[in-house]
Amino acid sequence: SKEEGRNQYSFFVPEMSQAIKDKREMEMQLRDALSNGELELAYQPKWGFRSGEVEGFEALLRWPHKTRGPISPADFIPIAEETGLIVEIGEWVLLHACMEAMHWPNDIEVSVNVSPIQFSAKSLLKDVRSALAQSGLPPERLELEITEGALMQDTDANLEILEAIREMGIKIALDDFGTGYSSLGYIRRFSFDRIKIDKSFINDVLTSKDSQAVVQAVCGICANLNIESVAEGIEEQIQLDYLNKEGCSQAQGYLIAKPMKPEIVSEFLERPHR
Ligand code: C2E
Ligand code: CA
Ligand code: CA
Ligand code: CA
Repeated sequence: SKEEGRNQYSFFVPEMSQAIKDKREMEMQLRDALSNGELELAYQPKWGFRSGEVEGFEALLRWPHKTRGPISPADFIPIAEETGLIVEIGEWVLLHACMEAMHWPNDIEVSVNVSPIQFSAKSLLKDVRSALAQSGLPPERLELEITEGALMQDTDANLEILEAIREMGIKIALDDFGTGYSSLGYIRRFSFDRIKIDKSFINDVLTSKDSQAVVQAVCGICANLNIESVAEGIEEQIQLDYLNKEGCSQAQGYLIAKPMKPEIVSEFLERPHR
C-alpha cells in the first residue's frame, strides 16, 4: 500500500539525508566564516639544518567554530573541496599569508598549501599574482605546497601552471611525499624546489626499516637532484639527529614549535630555538 511504501522509504532515507544535511550545514557555516573573517591562519616554523635557524613558516588554516570549538582542517578542507569553496578559501589564504609575511624579517619565507581543486579551477595563477601584488611580497619569499593529487589529472596542463608560477620566482614543494603511487615520475618531469617527506615516515623512522629506506632514498635523491628535502612531524630530538645524519635540509614539527598565532611569530623569531 501507499502507507507501507512511505514507511519503507522513511526507513533508510533520513539517515542519508542527515549526512547530506550536515555537509550542507557545514558548507554554509564555512562560507559564513570566510565572509565574516572568522577563518584564521596559524604559522609553523621550518628550521634549516645548515643555517641552524628558522627559514620560513607554513600557513595552516584554523576554524575556531563559535559553538563547536575548533574544527580541524582535515575535517573541513575535504568539504570545501567537494563544494568548490576551497577556491575562494585558497585565494583568502594566499593573500593573508603573503600580507602576514610582510611583517617578518625579509629573509623569512611563507609556505601556502594549495588544493588540487585550485588547479582545475584555473584561477591559481591569477590568485598568486594578485596576492603578491596586493601584499607587496617578493615572489622569492613565497612557496606553494602541492600534493600529488594536483598532478594526477591534467598532468601536462597543471605542470604548465606550476612552471609559470616557478618562473615568477616562487618556490614549489611537493607535500606528503611517499604516500602516493608514482611520485618518482613527477620528480623527473618537474623541477621541484623542495620535497616534504610525509610525517608518517618520520613518525617511526627510528623503528621501521621501511621508513628508514624511504627517508634515505628521498634524502639521497634530493641531494643528487639539488632539491631540498624537508622532514615534517619531527617530535623528538633523536628524529632530528637521524634526519640530520641523512642530509635532510629542513625540519618541521612540534619539537621546533607547534603552529602558532601570527602575533607570536616575531617574538618567536627573536629567541634562540634549538
Ligand atoms: P599538511 O599540509 O601535511 O600539514 C601538516 C600537518 O601536520 C598540520 O596539521 C600540522 O599542524 C601537523 N603537524 C606539524 N608538526 C607536527 C608534529 O610534530 N606532530 C604531529 N602529530 N603533527 C604535526 P593541520 O594544521 O591539522 O593540517 C592538516 C592538513 O590540512 C594539512 O596537512 C593540509 O593538507 C590541510 N590544510 C591546512 N591548511 C590548509 C590550507 O590553507 N589550504 C589547504 N588546501 N589545505 C590546508
Ligand atoms: Ca603542507
Ligand atoms: Ca604534509
Ligand atoms: Ca598531510
